[in-house]
Amino acid sequence: MIAYEDLAAVNKPFLDEFRLGLDQVAGDGKLVLGNNLLEFEKEFSSYCGASFGVGVASGLDALNLIFRGYNFKPGSEVIVPANTYIASIFGILHAGLKPVLVDPDLETYNLEPERVERAVTRNTVAILAVHLYGRCAPMPELLSIARDKGLRLIEDCAQAHGAAINDKRAGSWGDAAAFSFYPTKNLGALGDAGMVVTSDAQLGKRVQTLRNYGAEKKDVHTEVGFNSRMDELQAVFLRTKLKALDRLNDHRREMATIYNKGLRPDFIRPLSEEGYHDVYHIYAIRHARRDELRSYLEKQGIGTLIHYPTPPHRQPALASLVGSAQFPVTEEIHSTELSLPVSSAHRSEQIEEVVSWMNRF
Ligand SMILES: *Cc1c(COP(=O)(O)O)cnc(C)c1O
Repeated sequence: MIAYEDLAAVNKPFLDEFRLGLDQVAGDGKLVLGNNLLEFEKEFSSYCGASFGVGVASGLDALNLIFRGYNFKPGSEVIVPANTYIASIFGILHAGLKPVLVDPDLETYNLEPERVERAVTRNTVAILAVHLYGRCAPMPELLSIARDKGLRLIEDCAQAHGAAINDKRAGSWGDAAAFSFYPTKNLGALGDAGMVVTSDAQLGKRVQTLRNYGAEKKDVHTEVGFNSRMDELQAVFLRTKLKALDRLNDHRREMATIYNKGLRPDFIRPLSEEGYHDVYHIYAIRHARRDELRSYLEKQGIGTLIHYPTPPHRQPALASLVGSAQFPVTEEIHSTELSLPVSSAHRSEQIEEVVSWMNRF
């Protein structure tokens, strides 16, 4: 049995330190907006290479609060890759803006600068670059389009903690970035949590207000805000794991290298490109007989997933948004993608075993 993912095993090495953190937080009695959150906001934003972090309840909230924080005119357009996880699109919608879905590049699974440029209209206010599967979107190119057209560049970093291009990390390229610490992410909490990371002091301040009932200072509510604060307890757990993040990512990269080197060429492997430091939140391959391959692996006791079985434009919730628009690249990805086991708890022998079964398919 090789599970796709085993979160108990992922967290096991940290349990002793988690317990110390629990004792400290519970003993201290400061359970919301305490010192651990403050410190984690500093530590994580500085890890990313940005000036401010604002801990929120989830990755979805981080996106919503960023878009609200910029006060865009309601209904303004935000360009977003059509093959992303649906949260990216919901984040835009919750803030009263209009997602404009754009087909991605078939090799990188990320936004493709030329298609982005063609999608810009008079109503476009921002590009939401999603670093899908743990590989950065082409940020230098997207940044130059954004600067050229006067757009905000926002990053969805939910799958890309520690990913970088030329040593510049995800979360430091755009105007603001949304992180998720959902348990399965490369840096995962023991529940839901998220963060807005930015070097824009004004936006950081605004998100701080929005996440805490619109209170600019205690008991002064300047707007109708939200309750979206990261728990102190999650912050203490995440501080513990942040110290190990580079090591955990390096382990994922080693597992990915075993796949990259060992898999037969008819399995289309993720692109490895000079200057790109990918963190393989998901190790995605593509194959024409994906469903058959998936049940074959299941018979050998190997767990796999599909990211994502139904593309956003085919989700009932988005029917009125997309109408009859076509997304052939997204369709191709969704019908051929298979996610192979990769995590900080997998051992090389297990990955080698997956490779060996795959090559006998
Ligand atoms: C997980 C994820 C999110 C949402 O994060 P939550 O913390 O689950 O709200 C957003 N975007 C992408 C690309 C994700 O993978």
